[in-house]
Amino acid sequence: MATTNGFELVERSKIAEIDSEVSYFHHSKSGARFLSVSNKDENKVFGINFRTPPKSSNGIAHIMEHSVLCGSRKYPVKEPFVELIKGSLNTFLNAFTYPDKTCYPIASTNLHDFYNLVDVYLDAVFYPRLNEDVLRQEGWHYELQNPEEPLVYKGVVFNEMKGAYSSPTRIIAEKSQHSLFPDTAYGVESGGHPEAIPELTFDEFIDFHKTYYHPSNAFIYFYGDDNPEKRFSVLNEYLNDFTSRTVDSSIALQKRFKQTVKTKHKYFAGKDLGDAQKGVVSVNFLISDSLETFDRLKYILLDHILIGTPASPLRKALIDSGLGSDLSGHGLDGDLRQMNYSIGLRDIKPNDGDKVEALILDTLKNLAQNGIEKNTIDASLNTIEFSLRENNTGSYPRGLSMMIDALTIWLHDANPIDALAYEKPLAKLKSSLSENPRFFESIIETAFINNSHRTTLIFEPDESLEAKRQDDEHRKLSEIKNNLTRNEIDVIIKETALLQEKQNRPDNPEDLAKIPRLGLQDLEPKHTPLPIEVLKVPETEIVYHDLFTNGILYLELGFNLNKVPEKMLPYVLIFGRALLETGTEKFDQIELTQRIGKYTGGLWRSTLNSTIEDGHSTTSWLFIKGKAMVNQVDEMLALLHEILTTARLDNRDRIKQIVLDAKSAFENSLAVSGHSLAQSQLAAAFSKAGWISEKMNSLSYLFFLRNLEKRIEQDWQSMQADFEMLRSTLISRKNLICNCTVDSKNWLQIEPRISTFISTLPARKSEKQDWSFTKNGIHTGLSVPTQVNFVGKGMNIYEHGYEFHGSIFVISKYLRTTWLWDRVRVHGGAYGAFCHFNRRTGLLAFLSYRDPNLKETLKIFDDTASFLQETKINKDELTKSIIGTIGDIDSYMLADAKGGASLFRYLTGTTDEKLQNIRDEILGTDANAFIQFGEALESFKENGLVAITSSENVLQKFNSEEMNNKLSIIKVM
Ligand SMILES: [Zn+2]
Repeated sequence: MATTNGFELVERSKIAEIDSEVSYFHHSKSGARFLSVSNKDENKVFGINFRTPPKSSNGIAHIMEHSVLCGSRKYPVKEPFVELIKGSLNTFLNAFTYPDKTCYPIASTNLHDFYNLVDVYLDAVFYPRLNEDVLRQEGWHYELQNPEEPLVYKGVVFNEMKGAYSSPTRIIAEKSQHSLFPDTAYGVESGGHPEAIPELTFDEFIDFHKTYYHPSNAFIYFYGDDNPEKRFSVLNEYLNDFTSRTVDSSIALQKRFKQTVKTKHKYFAGKDLGDAQKGVVSVNFLISDSLETFDRLKYILLDHILIGTPASPLRKALIDSGLGSDLSGHGLDGDLRQMNYSIGLRDIKPNDGDKVEALILDTLKNLAQNGIEKNTIDASLNTIEFSLRENNTGSYPRGLSMMIDALTIWLHDANPIDALAYEKPLAKLKSSLSENPRFFESIIETAFINNSHRTTLIFEPDESLEAKRQDDEHRKLSEIKNNLTRNEIDVIIKETALLQEKQNRPDNPEDLAKIPRLGLQDLEPKHTPLPIEVLKVPETEIVYHDLFTNGILYLELGFNLNKVPEKMLPYVLIFGRALLETGTEKFDQIELTQRIGKYTGGLWRSTLNSTIEDGHSTTSWLFIKGKAMVNQVDEMLALLHEILTTARLDNRDRIKQIVLDAKSAFENSLAVSGHSLAQSQLAAAFSKAGWISEKMNSLSYLFFLRNLEKRIEQDWQSMQADFEMLRSTLISRKNLICNCTVDSKNWLQIEPRISTFISTLPARKSEKQDWSFTKNGIHTGLSVPTQVNFVGKGMNIYEHGYEFHGSIFVISKYLRTTWLWDRVRVHGGAYGAFCHFNRRTGLLAFLSYRDPNLKETLKIFDDTASFLQETKINKDELTKSIIGTIGDIDSYMLADAKGGASLFRYLTGTTDEKLQNIRDEILGTDANAFIQFGEALESFKENGLVAITSSENVLQKFNSEEMNNKLSIIKVM
């Protein structure tokens, strides 16, 4: 084999469909694997990944992921990771633990910045400064301030996982995975179970790093438009220190079950407020050991056929049964060594578990015997093919999504290049389908029907489980404490103080300066305008963005909500879905969904609410969005016309399903998004746009959905009338803005078709409505079943003397990455803390995420003013925050996102001149701005409003002890 720069080339290939040259290497000396992808993408990606199968649920892999980012040989500071967040132009910077691997990816469009990040990550993974304090901080430790207090557990991962285990969805997914793989690494919790994390010892911690974080167990990846030769020298600097060895980390195949398994479980769910049931059933199958891309693609397609759309036969059978409200389970999981499938229903009566299981099996048998409709297969095939070709990864770098795809087979020693090339397997799939009309039917037989490796898990809600768990933890800790000698107690107190002292001690400035970073002179001083052209056709505006989209038209039809009566606002999201999912005059629900799949890359709805530049007025829209290849534009427009004018808003059964599904999805999101709930209460208290958003998609919306569920049964006539009223108010070309993103050559042909399409829409005129927003000054507590808190406090700083200056973005970035990070996360043990500022409304909000504390966190928020006034920010810190802020505002966008952002600027009246001004102010931020901002925040403690999401007991105790009962507690679940 040819060797260059110490790397043997295993295979090189040009892959036309991803416009890349891909080379796979083996590093001779260290044994590292290296996948090098070269192309024109400026959003460069690097990742170093290790195979890290855990042996128990003590969270070792996850805690190690956190710990290696806490200082290394070349960068001996507390948290190099945070220094990079503060002061780099990264477009992605994070680390993840999977059940079998740990990934360290970074991305940047700036070459110099990119290689800086690469070096910090390489040093971190190979030479971390692991010591007992790191394990204690990131993993777990006993905390005790004085001998009388009860002993408690603290630790970032410990608390993160407590939060994770407040999510029923998470518990069900974990238990389902464990049930299929009892004998392998997939049978334990790689993130760490809160009860098992305190079993992790320092020796095991150190050993884990020695064993798995070696180049011979590493999977290294580069992607983008940087010089591929340079990658070798960067890697050699690290890899040459190591000698190849055998690392036993491969993932064993789970032995097949001879018999299916059925088990019952309890899980923690909130008290029921309506008459809905909270049982869940999950049916799981181990389906394939194959690492072939063709096999993976065929299961991806089958998954889409079965549950990908509301009309998919398995999804539809489950929803139509009325046994539950929404699917549970993720469908296909292709991330593990063996592909598996999980499907079920939630919100069922626990006694119906067997019925649901039978329904799943019968539906699959029926499909295998009687065949899948050809239109369903064609629609799914087009959808999957469109998404492969579009490769739209949103704000996630394309190169990163490619790395994760490659790892699914690479991690198990298959050739990663095979995972990236989809053209051949796609062609093979198409020809298999035309040769064998029963292609998918026979797969259903082997994967599901004749497969005894199946588990059925039935979950019954248990309200008391959380209290029991807390009691157990308290009992265990008090037993531990009772068995400690006075001397041992003193040691814990000392260690607690010592750890806090270490966490509070600032890094040595010389060490901080070792972290490589850009200077202000490397930053682009000019704001980059986005293309926009506004065309007036009679009664409508067309907004056009000339951008390269690889032959795809992105179309957004915006309907102005200012004609909608206030009481109808909570209807808007449901109305948008009803347009797309109830069928039309010509097509029933199934045919409509099939046609959307066959002729477009998808149709969906979204809303936009914002304050405009004047600081008071609002702009609110319902968008129906779609994308299609240029040659499919006519079909897409015809479908849109059909949907907008003839959707079956009288389809009661389907609308009921949509309402139940939306309600269930909202309730299930509460455990992971308690901070958003609190944030939206704050926004609603201070601004009209926030108040509208709260009505349309937050707590008021949830209460509205619960009420709607009853009205469908008792008052359908009036509900239907409401929907019709919305249609006649909204769907009018006099009320429309049409946003189009495509390159100019294609636009020439598309524009006249768009104009014709618009002219065929109704032209009703409606009156503008007044909405009754008034500011409220209420502190809110939102009670949900959870083991952690989400603490928020906010204030309109414009009302308290602050005048806008761009430096506020630099300051809030600085607060997030220093003050809040150190106090709320590192010291307090919360998973995260944020500081949001809305330039248009003046709302400044602090929020914590998965927080064990409450009043301590509020005190930190209140103390921000004095922190800013007392801290003398040095030049280095200031520069870093400016760089980081520019990195944030220049976030990387694909063409469709640019078209959307450009429209947002237009609707809110944001000019390029304004944005240039803000950029100038950011770049010119000085230390004085921090002090002045601290002064402006002085009244925050007094005038700020509190919004907290937590469990009912915690809120009530807090309310009486700390808030003089001024907290208005709303029971959410
Ligand atoms: Zn974590």
